[in-house]
Amino acid sequence: MAGKNEISSAIKVVREKIEAATKRRPDNFPGIEPTLVAVSKTKPVDMIIEAYSCGIRHFGENYANELLEKAQDSQVLENCKDIRWHYIGQFQTKNIRKLLGLQNLHMIETLQSEKNATFLNSTWERLTKPGKLQVMVQVNTSGEDNKNGCPPENASDLVKFVLEKCPHLQFCGLMTIGAYGYDTSKGPNPDFLRLVSCKELVVSNLGLDSSQMGLSMGMSTDYEHAIELGSTNVRVGSIIFGAREPPKKNVLPVSTVENQVVQGTFKRLQ
Ligand SMILES: *Cc1c(COP(=O)(O)O)cnc(C)c1O
Repeated sequence: MAGKNEISSAIKVVREKIEAATKRRPDNFPGIEPTLVAVSKTKPVDMIIEAYSCGIRHFGENYANELLEKAQDSQVLENCKDIRWHYIGQFQTKNIRKLLGLQNLHMIETLQSEKNATFLNSTWERLTKPGKLQVMVQVNTSGEDNKNGCPPENASDLVKFVLEKCPHLQFCGLMTIGAYGYDTSKGPNPDFLRLVSCKELVVSNLGLDSSQMGLSMGMSTDYEHAIELGSTNVRVGSIIFGAREPPKKNVLPVSTVENQVVQGTFKRLQ
């Protein structure tokens, strides 16, 4: 687990690399400066507080209940008054409803359908909070069934819907996760290229200002590359906070173990 000094030196390195990658962008790049979103999922709140003390303000979580807990943690509330939470997880109405009440929720990055947009718009309206709810539209650039997001060809219609039919939402750009483990020595990541062309299409179809439209792409292994291609929002987790525990898939749920013990089939205990 990354200690205090490791977190602060990792952040320093990431910031330097972000700055350098930003300079490598084409000269005429219309652009918003990249925001570093530190992805703190599965990591304890003291690490969040440490990263905050190093100047990080944007944090990303992709489990709604975990975000809910961390955002309301008394230490976090006391030490991180200006924290801005990004929800980057799966869009589940039931869970997201709870998030919208959080005072420091900054953005929902994973809106993927008109239904999602309608839900967010009406829920936000009822909460009567100041300002609009900032959202990004998630696009499934890799076309994988297990990835969320709207198909790239539907992005213009969905963005149009948000802009025209959702007065309580502020559209901030497009987001992708993309295929994992792409080898960048093979050239630019096709997911990033697809998100960029998706943006260009949306901009031209709807007559938008390209410099106002963000792109959320790039994680620990490829954020520099993503910035060179136009990312304005990189979601970086493990290189700041250390590797995460793999999900415990092979551990039997307690109830199963108990049943086996009861039935006398749990070999090790016999
Ligand atoms: C976990 C996660 C990240 C961060 O991944 P790292 O490889 O740890 O940088 C970024 N985006 C999403 C949507 C994630 O779930």
